[in-house]
Amino acid sequence: MELSDLARRLGSGQLFHAYIITGADAETRERAGNLIARAAVCQAERGVPCGVCRDCVKAERGIHPDIETVRREKDAAFHTVDTMRALRARAAVVPNEARRGVHIIAEADLMNAQAQNAMLKVLEEPPSHAVFVLLADNPEMLLETVRSRCETVVLTPEEAVLEEKLVEAARELTRAYLREDDLGLVKALRALEKLSKTECFDLVTALRREALQNSGQLTPERRKRLTDTLDTADKMVFANMKGGVLGGYLLSALCGAE
Ligand SMILES: [Zn+2]
Repeated sequence: MELSDLARRLGSGQLFHAYIITGADAETRERAGNLIARAAVCQAERGVPCGVCRDCVKAERGIHPDIETVRREKDAAFHTVDTMRALRARAAVVPNEARRGVHIIAEADLMNAQAQNAMLKVLEEPPSHAVFVLLADNPEMLLETVRSRCETVVLTPEEAVLEEKLVEAARELTRAYLREDDLGLVKALRALEKLSKTECFDLVTALRREALQNSGQLTPERRKRLTDTLDTADKMVFANMKGGVLGGYLLSALCGAE
């Protein structure tokens, strides 16, 4: 599935205690892990990260105290049993700020047998507030007993993700909206007609970030109009709308004075 499919599943309220994320490339797997983490800590509890609450903002900045990514120690070929025991101890503790604590394990397929058995113990009796995300290039290297306790998400390689282009498009759009420049909006939205579903998802995320950073420059009315529009845009993305449809909606929702 693509990231947007995962987002849609989360949006339907489906959050598991443990995931194995595989397929695609390491970067995409990390993004999937981060998406699950944000969904798990978001205060809105809608299944998809709202992008604006305190927990979402911290998660996006990579400073949320209840989200950790466990990485293999430098020069070590495998995650060791000590690493996994320490993880188990941390996972048992009630989260600091959010309702859930998220533990992402990068290169989880590089756990040695002892480490996997320690991980298995965590998965057999997971604390109710904990979510585990195992990122794995080769999930077949994980014990069957570990795999059977996780929801496996197989990501399909994405078409080239034009991150910078999307960030720039979001910036253009926000700038035009701030200036109340309808012509600028039309121009910025023309670039969106060919966006794939995944790109639409990323664009709305980028727009949320821009909206948050620039919200001080907007009147309360125009700020509300923007956040309401993004809420609807989110729903459209999760309903699998394509770029042209999304662009058309944004145009009608954001153009013109109140
Ligand atoms: Zn949130």
